[in-house]
Formats: sequence, C-alpha cells, structure tokens
Amino acid sequence: MELSGKKMLVVGLGKTGIQTVRFLLKKGAEIRASDITPFEKLREEVKEFQRLGVKIEAGEHKNETFLWADKIVLSPGVPFGLPSVKEARARGIEIISELELAWSFINKPVVAITGSNGKTTTSTLIARILEASGKKIFLGANIGTPLIQIAEDDDGFDFLVLELSSFQLQGISTFKPYIGVLLNISPNHLDHHESFDEYVESKIKLFSNQTPLEWAIYNGDDSVIKDNSLRIKSRKIPFGETPIEGGIFFDGTYVRFGDELYDLRRMKLIGIHNIENALAAIASTRILGCEPELIESEIVKFDPLPHRIEFVCEVSEGRFYNDSKSTSPGATLRALESFPPPIILIAGGKDKGVSYEVLKDTVHKKVKLLVLFGESRFRMQSELGGELETALASSLEEAVDKALVKVAKGDTVLFSPACSSFDMFNSYEERGRRFKEIVQYISV
Ligand code: ADP
Repeated sequence: MELSGKKMLVVGLGKTGIQTVRFLLKKGAEIRASDITPFEKLREEVKEFQRLGVKIEAGEHKNETFLWADKIVLSPGVPFGLPSVKEARARGIEIISELELAWSFINKPVVAITGSNGKTTTSTLIARILEASGKKIFLGANIGTPLIQIAEDDDGFDFLVLELSSFQLQGISTFKPYIGVLLNISPNHLDHHESFDEYVESKIKLFSNQTPLEWAIYNGDDSVIKDNSLRIKSRKIPFGETPIEGGIFFDGTYVRFGDELYDLRRMKLIGIHNIENALAAIASTRILGCEPELIESEIVKFDPLPHRIEFVCEVSEGRFYNDSKSTSPGATLRALESFPPPIILIAGGKDKGVSYEVLKDTVHKKVKLLVLFGESRFRMQSELGGELETALASSLEEAVDKALVKVAKGDTVLFSPACSSFDMFNSYEERGRRFKEIVQYISV
C-alpha cells in the first residue's frame, strides 16, 4: 500500500491509534487524527504529533475532517456506524481498520483467533504451545501490542498469533490468515454494532479472503457458525462435541482428531468451553507441525488466565471465583455451566444493550441467590428475577456482603458480571482485582 503523500485520517487516539499515527509518519503520509475525547485527556504523544505536523481534532468528529481523507483508519472500538464514517463511506472514501493497514506490511504466517468469548485464552494457549515447540511468536493485536507496531518489522518471528475483535475484522478487505479460528458467536457489543447480523458478518469475514491453501477452524456445534460454514472456501476443521468428518471432537472423555487421542482430564482450565478452546488450539498447532505429546502437556499445565473463572479463596466453606472478564451473557452462561449447584451469582455492570434471556433457564436451575449490581441491575432483575431470590446492591462491596450473608458449605460464589465494567471501573482487570481484594479481606 502506497502511503507517501496520501491523506490519512486516524480515528481514535488510544494505544492503537497512537501506533497507527507513528507508522503513517514513518511512511510519509499527510495525517489528521480525530478523537471524541477532549484534548487535555488525550495521551502525551498527541502533543508531539502536533509538532510533527499532524492535525488533531479533539472532543468532536467533524464531517469535513472525514471528507478530507483519501483513506480512514479506524481504531478498534470505533463504530462503523459513526455518522461521519457513514457520510465518508457514502462519498466513496475507503474505511479500513488498523489490522487491514498493518496487513499490507506483514510477511509472516498468521494464526488469527476470533469469537465472542475465549479469544484471549485460546490465543495464549496457541502461542504457548508454539513457543514450547521452539518457535518465535508474536502474540498481540486485540490484546497487548497492536499489529501495526510490528508492520514491516516481523522478521524476528516464525508465526504471528493474533487475537481479533469484530471491529478489527469489520474493516478488512484483503486480510487473509493462514489459519483462522472462529470460537463461537453469541450476542455481544450490540451497543457498537448496528445489528446482530452485522456482528455475525464481521466475525465470518475472518475467512472471506481464504482459499483452499488456508485453514478454517470453527465451532461446528455453534448454530450461527454452522449456518454460515458453506461460505468458507478454505480447508475446514470443525470442532465440538459432535463427531464430524475431518473435524476434531471431545467424546466426553478424550479428544479425538483423526486417529490421534488427547487426554485432557488433568487440565487446570475449568468447563466444557475451555475444552472447546483446547480443541481449537490442538487443531491449529497440529497444522503448524507441533507434536501431539507436547500439545497435550502444554494444555494440561496451562493455568487459567487472571479474571477468567479464577479461584480466589474459600470463605465460610464456599468457594469464590473471579470471572470479571465475563463481559457478555454468553460467557456467564458458560461459567454457570462449569459448576454444580448451588451457586451464588454476582452479576451486573455497564448495559451493552444485549438480552440476558439466554441465562434465564440455567440461572433458575442452578442459582440459589442472584446478587445484581451496576447500571444493568434493574434490567437484569426484570429479565432474570421472578421466583428466584434476588438482591440488589449499589456497589461491588455491598454485592459481596449480600453473598456472604447467604453463603453455606459447598456453595460456589461466582462473580461473572455478563456486562462490561465501565459503569464503575476503568477495566475488567480493575474490577476483578477489586473483587479479589474484597474477598481476600473478608477471608482473614
Ligand atoms: P475473550 O478474549 O474473547 O474475551 P477470554 O479468554 O478472555 O475471552 O475469556 C472471556 C470470558 O469468556 C471469561 O469469562 C471466560 O471464562 C469465558 N470463556 C472462555 N472461553 C469461552 C468459550 N469458548 N465460550 C464461552 N465462554 C468462554
């Protein structure tokens, strides 16, 4: 992609936007950047960019800025539905994601992982197995380092393992991973996407440029993915609990992949959803030549990542788990499925506009007390409450207190919010750390 002298607009000046501007400066583009955040709250680097001739628009998005550009690069999380983006697109201006921009300058084979849930766990697992096989790996994109940071600079790696969000995929036109992994699709981010269909399309786009030379690994039991699988033109490996020709599946005891057998019974990750993540990781790393014994042993010894069904401690003989990374009902459903009843569920947070109905049956079967906090608590109560004992709390401290009053021997106390954290916290990490602090404080 020729960038010298091109009028490039970067939308969003967070971690990714900053790196995008840096890259475009290096390539000699004429750059403007637009961010809805007021100037004083933008990162320090922005001032340096101004000195280097980048025109910054802060606190608003003006149509004229967008119409000025030859090409617009959206940072992850910036909605395609933004009025100025729509206007620019209507006038024929190309809108791409930072992923698409970076892709033109990437040489090494890519394993790209997406899905509504399980991306970080699966990407990390794949990277660990490849590293244990002696490969040099870049693990990044939606987690850690943005891809643009290694654009034109990926020589030191054997493989790039990329965790990708729906936003990043929505803005691709040529991106083509050697292996694409689609874990699952459930309603998520409906506050940023215009419809569920648009969200599904962005996920399926992962495979859109693949040919029979590349690989598609996808959840064969996921009805939304299954409905779209005929559109995939690359070599397919479905995974799940149903044996499918050419696929990899879990038979209730072992994982079977062709005539290979994997024993994951000692795996530290909890729940069938993590078996699914493991299936995707096995298929990906086998394609890349890793040995079955090594794959099995790396998966078995892999510790759950923080804030993903992470055991905290025992209080009053109940076991407390931190699943703060659950920012969608789909993730909370899988967490609930991972434990026997009785469960005390603490949930709630920023309302992302999704329905909580999917949780209803399981909540009513397994949950003895539902504690709801945060912005979404009233809507969750009306969708999930009913017969069930429900307590409302105005803070996380109060929510843990309410759980503590009812906890009994053998209970699981599961903090799995089903919502993002931004109503009360800066991130899911901060929210999870706070939960652990509160629980550890009351345990002494
Ligand atoms: P992501 O990066 O997609 O958010 P994580 O691996 O960070 O995924 O996990 C996020 C949440 O989803 C956690 O609550 C975790 O327990 C849950 N989860 C992990 N894997 C899956 C899966 N395959 N299906 C559903 N939920 C999952």
